[in-house]
Amino acid sequence: MVFTLAAISSLLVIAIIVAISSYYEYHGFGLQVGVFRHGAGQKRRLAALTFDDGPSAAYTPAILDILAAKNVKATFFLTGQMAAKHTDIARRVTAEGHEVGNHTYSHVNMIFLKAAALADEIDRGHQAVLDATGIKPVLFRPPRGLFNNTVRQALLARGYRIVLWSVSAADWSVLSAPMIAWRVRHFVRPGAVILFHDGGALVNNAGGKRDKTVAVLSGLIDYLHAKGYTLVTAGELVDSH
Ligand SMILES: [Zn+2]
Repeated sequence: MVFTLAAISSLLVIAIIVAISSYYEYHGFGLQVGVFRHGAGQKRRLAALTFDDGPSAAYTPAILDILAAKNVKATFFLTGQMAAKHTDIARRVTAEGHEVGNHTYSHVNMIFLKAAALADEIDRGHQAVLDATGIKPVLFRPPRGLFNNTVRQALLARGYRIVLWSVSAADWSVLSAPMIAWRVRHFVRPGAVILFHDGGALVNNAGGKRDKTVAVLSGLIDYLHAKGYTLVTAGELVDSH
């Protein structure tokens, strides 16, 4: 295989994006009160699997099948739009014992919103998850982990806990399935919140392929169990603080 200059430079750009997003996942910025990137969990060697941007008809059922087969409970951060579109799948998520959180109504960048639009994204997302599942979400994850003090205050005022992540599978990226699995195995620590996607796309709301997420999940659960991890919901993990 011959590497052209264009191929090398695009690989370099991908490597830089993954490196920057990894740094940002670990360190974050802005005020941190009410924001959780991981649980304590050390004593019980806990970790949480989380899935964003669903539910999707293409991938969520397959992910639920794997979680059921492995007897693992996870957390799904639903967008209101997708919950309203796929109420049957959203209901299956909670019926099978998984936790649901709010991930805004339409997966916007929250830091650019004016007060009314910000409130609308949070409250419509909340209502859509409640309507679909009968569960009032108490956890919130801002799209792409982007928030500022205004966003944080709006969420805390509504009683939300903001859950980010400590390990990104980067399953939205061009990384191969083995590389995605390697990232999780390499970065996981007791207390980890692990980010996957069961729907969505990096830029828009839907249409991203998540075959790699489905492909790596079963093996990763086996690996984590073999390493002595107990997999819990994000809410349980946050409570372990
Ligand atoms: Zn998202």
